[in-house]
Amino acid sequence: MRFGNHVITADANAVTDVDLDQTAITCCDGVVVLLCCPACRALWLHCDPHGHSWVDLTTTPRKLDRPRVDKCPSCGKGLHFDAGLATFLPSRSEVFAADLARYLVT
Ligand SMILES: [Zn+2]
Ligand SMILES: [Zn+2]
Repeated sequence: MRFGNHVITADANAVTDVDLDQTAITCCDGVVVLLCCPACRALWLHCDPHGHSWVDLTTTPRKLDRPRVDKCPSCGKGLHFDAGLATFLPSRSEVFAADLARYLVT
């Protein structure tokens, strides 16, 4: 079992909050974590517990106006976070493939 400070996962390949440079984005007092859409595999930064979403991460990151994300910012699929965020965490290879390695601490 690995422990993120905020999102806990047993998957050694999952990228969780401790793997991310928490200073890469200045949002609020939340914890940022990359989430991956199960339908289209789009990645975005999610600020928890507030639910702010940051997109366009490879160019100029921008915060969406929506107060709390409940659907994929890319394809619009409804997402259910009731069981926690762990099942939406991307793998390291997905983060590298999306050219988002700059957000990792290692
Ligand atoms: Zn925030
Ligand atoms: Zn999607």
